[in-house]
Amino acid sequence: MLIVPETLIASLVTAEDAFRAVEACFAAMARGEACNFPVVREALGEGRQYGFKSGLDRAAGQLGVKAGGYFPGNAAKGMINHQSSVFLFDPETGRPVAMVGGNLLTALRTAAASAIAIDRLARPDARVLGIVGAGHQAGFQLRAAARVRRFERVIAWNLHPEMLPNVGAVAADLGLPFEAVDLPRMREAEVIVTITSSPVASLMAAHVAPGTHLSCMGTDTRGKQEADPALVAGASVFTDEVAQSVTIGEAQHAVAAGTLDASAIVPLGEVLIGRHPGRQTATEITLFDGTGVGLQDLAVAAVAVQRARERGLGIEVGV
Ligand code: NAD
Repeated sequence: MLIVPETLIASLVTAEDAFRAVEACFAAMARGEACNFPVVREALGEGRQYGFKSGLDRAAGQLGVKAGGYFPGNAAKGMINHQSSVFLFDPETGRPVAMVGGNLLTALRTAAASAIAIDRLARPDARVLGIVGAGHQAGFQLRAAARVRRFERVIAWNLHPEMLPNVGAVAADLGLPFEAVDLPRMREAEVIVTITSSPVASLMAAHVAPGTHLSCMGTDTRGKQEADPALVAGASVFTDEVAQSVTIGEAQHAVAAGTLDASAIVPLGEVLIGRHPGRQTATEITLFDGTGVGLQDLAVAAVAVQRARERGLGIEVGV
């Protein structure tokens, strides 16, 4: 078994690698070649969440699980709040193949999913990017979005405004003008990414202009919520995995309220393989409910393992 520690990941996997790997796994899911297993997600108290996301991609030969969660006290200890590790197994024998640090990979694969949705669903002429959130993931989201559209400026809102310079610094690094705004000014954006751990909706229908694409990425647990359920119910909703969208994703609230039918939610993979057209008018609001699936984790971890083996990196241990 190869151990690929967190410290090696940045030198092994790029944003482009993550984009391609996640695109391939969403497409495999739509073709019925890959499936995610039910998510286990438990509250540990004091806001800590711990769980397992797992799956099998027959086409790619990937079987495995990501174990980890969200520990909100970590930031004060100088660590990121998300902590995880990915374990890969041989799908034929069940023997362990690799253990891979999952923190950077989670940020890369989450930002990749959002960017794939923007690439396929946002209007081609989108020029203003809105970000709701300013935590660890927000900068990755901004960088990934900037790879798929020619944005000319970035606007952002966060409940804790003192965190917004984190996003501003990434915008500056990308050479994009940045402005902190009130939520009603999100109407200036043609693409909005939400990436917070909020338990209540902040982005309301009145804050979003017709024709906008939303990537709602923060809600990955029962009880979290970023967008007004009326906004969700009025949008064309796409997701990574419908079963997760209706239980732990942003759509959980509109579905529970009976204003959105689960059968109306389209897996993004259907768009990738040409089975669904995606955006159909310039004025519809498209919404990607990115819940984060285990297969995404396996896909990027497999890239890390392949690169590590090619370069003789990592720690081989007998099992
Ligand atoms: P973080 O702890 O670094 O940042 C948290 C963000 O949420 C900050 O912007 C903070 O201001 C905001 N926030 C905190 N409490 C809030 C509240 N009560 N109301 C409104 N906003 C609040 O977290 P992160 O690593 O940037 O992750 C952000 C979210 O994305 C988390 O919910 C995390 O679980 C989720 N996430 C989702 C996926 C996925 O695949 N969909 C992957 C990774 C992380």
